[in-house]
Amino acid sequence: MAKGRIDVLESFCKSCGLCVEACPVKVLRISDKINSKGYRPVEQYKEGCIACRMCATMCPDAAIQVYKIEENS
Ligand code: SF4
Ligand code: SF4
Repeated sequence: MAKGRIDVLESFCKSCGLCVEACPVKVLRISDKINSKGYRPVEQYKEGCIACRMCATMCPDAAIQVYKIEENS
């Protein structure tokens, strides 16, 4: 299984939760932080991302970037 990680462009996130619902391994949650627009941005709160990109695909605000982690590096 591929491993991945995400970056959230926090100022773009509107806390809609679509990515949290879409993630098949449930590693995302709405954080306690407040962004510049007054929303609480999503965060990856535990290991287990499989770089499936579902979160980035679902996000209506293009707030998530997904990176695949190479196994042998
Ligand atoms: S890339 Fe897939 S596994 Fe990783 S956080 Fe996004 S939806 Fe979850
Ligand atoms: S789908 Fe996008 S805007 Fe909605 S909570 Fe996730 S990162 Fe934020």
